[in-house]
Amino acid sequence: MELNICHLYPDLLNLYGDGGNIIAMKKRLEWRNIECHIHNVTLHDSFEQDKYDIVFIGGGQDFEQEVILKDLKGDKTKRLKEAVESNVCFLGICGGYQLLGNYYQTWDHHQFDFIGALDLYTIGDKKRMIGDFVFSCPDILNLDVVGFENHSGKTFLGNSVRPLGTIKKGYGNNGQDQTEGARYKNVFCSYSHGSLLPKNPKLCDVILDTALYRKYRVNINEALHDEYENEANQFILNRLL
Ligand code: GLN
Repeated sequence: MELNICHLYPDLLNLYGDGGNIIAMKKRLEWRNIECHIHNVTLHDSFEQDKYDIVFIGGGQDFEQEVILKDLKGDKTKRLKEAVESNVCFLGICGGYQLLGNYYQTWDHHQFDFIGALDLYTIGDKKRMIGDFVFSCPDILNLDVVGFENHSGKTFLGNSVRPLGTIKKGYGNNGQDQTEGARYKNVFCSYSHGSLLPKNPKLCDVILDTALYRKYRVNINEALHDEYENEANQFILNRLL
């Protein structure tokens, strides 16, 4: 078995070590003897939606988001939406999460029209939401997820999109409604940066499992030794809750 992971805009959207999520997915596949190929797709490259099992989009500042706006328009938007609708697995983080939605209005009133693959929008606020945070997602995991967020955008979900989780500590989508991240078909989105999958290996396995099931109709059935990862997770939980 093998999975192909597309890393979208790795040179532009890679805040706070978001690329660590790619390393976590690759290692956890290889430890189970499943091949993993990473395909970097950036400005001017074509996005071949049939080639990928997982698409990863990291976070970026408003500046980087604006830089890629033109590149996203047209063909890439069409293909990304096709991938979402055909149940390709996605992980979008912070700025990458925002760009899967309809638009982002920055705190100083610039409007970025994004790809509209997910029914959600983001409004920037002068006050940034920064810090370690904790959320639960009981429908997919029986462990709390710990992460780090830093965003000005407040994201609000439309009816067809459900939150990834419920905030226990921190801000999440908007600091108002206790929601964190988004789920739609096989898309997972979160405001949590780089350490998301390394620090929450069970969440990583949920994503890998989703992609493997879509492609091969098999589930991950081999548990890995996650003692260090679980300790890191527990350390943050003890500090924050
Ligand atoms: N530019 C976005 C915001 O500040 C995303 C930031 C990020 O990816 N950390 O809301």
